[in-house]
Amino acid sequence: MNLILMGLPGAGKGTQAEKIVEKYQIPHISTGDMFRSAIKGGTELGKKAKSFMDQGELVPDEVTIGIVKERLQKPDCEKGFLLDGFPRTIAQAEALENLLTELNSPLDYVIHVNVPEEKLVDRLTGRRVCPECGATYHVIYNPPKVEGKCDHDGATLIQRKDDQAETVSKRLEVNVAQQQPLLDFYQDKNYLVTVNGDQDINDVFVAIDEKLQTLK
Ligand SMILES: [Zn+2]
Repeated sequence: MNLILMGLPGAGKGTQAEKIVEKYQIPHISTGDMFRSAIKGGTELGKKAKSFMDQGELVPDEVTIGIVKERLQKPDCEKGFLLDGFPRTIAQAEALENLLTELNSPLDYVIHVNVPEEKLVDRLTGRRVCPECGATYHVIYNPPKVEGKCDHDGATLIQRKDDQAETVSKRLEVNVAQQQPLLDFYQDKNYLVTVNGDQDINDVFVAIDEKLQTLK
């Protein structure tokens, strides 16, 4: 079961990743985790990646794909994997295709958790944080008992700058521009499975799971 998970910020990708991993016992491989473990492991590629990151530069694709290759060859990937946050570009997607061919372990599905952008703006701008204890709330989905006040300490909740409408819209725009070419790429190759992410979390998983059942 070789999967890629895609979706915009706020689409609930993380929650679905947890559910897939729990049910199918495949590793959830995020780019960040992969880099961290390569760097921590002190591999040649890890060292290379670190030198770019230390200089504040983007890690080049050949280093990234090398790290992906090392990761996908680990024993826990025997039953498959769930890639999250990779690939980010068409060049990376093509490199991944070649790598999976080389490993004789082709991709099964690219699952796209799809939520309309305006809904994502609502989700993301509704977040509130307690400045005292760090508890997070959502004005619609997870409201505090008393409006605007933390349940734990009564502190006045704040909205992070990252969660303000203008910042959220910009962030979404950037992500849409990055994601769309990849969705088109995988659609052309018939890997793409688009799931309606604008429904109850469990229903989203049921929709994903129906598709995954066909791989058994
Ligand atoms: Zn608090």
